[in-house]
Amino acid sequence: MAGHASAIQHLAVYASSSDAVEPVFREAARELGHLIGDRGYTLVYGAGSIGLMGVVARAVHERNGRVVGVIPEKLSALEITYEASDELIVTTGMRDRKAIMEARADAFVALPGGFGTLEELLEVLTLKQLDYHNKPIVILNVDGLFDGLLRQFETLFERSFTHDGHRDLYHVATTVAGVFEYLDTYTPSDRPRKVG
Ligand code: AMP
Repeated sequence: MAGHASAIQHLAVYASSSDAVEPVFREAARELGHLIGDRGYTLVYGAGSIGLMGVVARAVHERNGRVVGVIPEKLSALEITYEASDELIVTTGMRDRKAIMEARADAFVALPGGFGTLEELLEVLTLKQLDYHNKPIVILNVDGLFDGLLRQFETLFERSFTHDGHRDLYHVATTVAGVFEYLDTYTPSDRPRKVG
């Protein structure tokens, strides 16, 4: 089912590099990858063959989707690169890697992950808050993994560290189907620009 009607063609996915996580997370990563492939989208991701990153990339390929991996030199030397990527971009460091992923993507999805995933998610959120882009951002909260993070976000809104008008910077989905429902109906909004 290539060429879905949505404007989204390139989906950036941030995800855990750990192979030790519970099966429920691997299942969600696999389902996400399958739908990316079924819809004819291109996966843009960190090029890892390990953890949920590897699961999602292999699942995209199982459904004949396209995979673009963006990896810094240092990590590519560790032999954890998903060599089957249709396009592999090797960058000098983490910063240009993130910039390339951001530029290439029409939307961002955070699967469960650790520090690396959080860092990438918070960077695209911050860039959107500052009006550098207006692309959809979805947090896939599988099995409550991000509950603590979302509580922290609430505290930021409640105590005025983050403007209430920025609640629509991101969407929280609890199912893979919910991710695509949001992406299919996404309309960029005019939120107050962050000035200080
Ligand atoms: P983490 O959530 O800490 O496991 O880090 C995963 C995220 O950081 C991914 O979305 C990647 O973009 C990046 N990353 C961390 N470790 C690696 C790795 N070994 N290979 C490729 N990308 C990685």
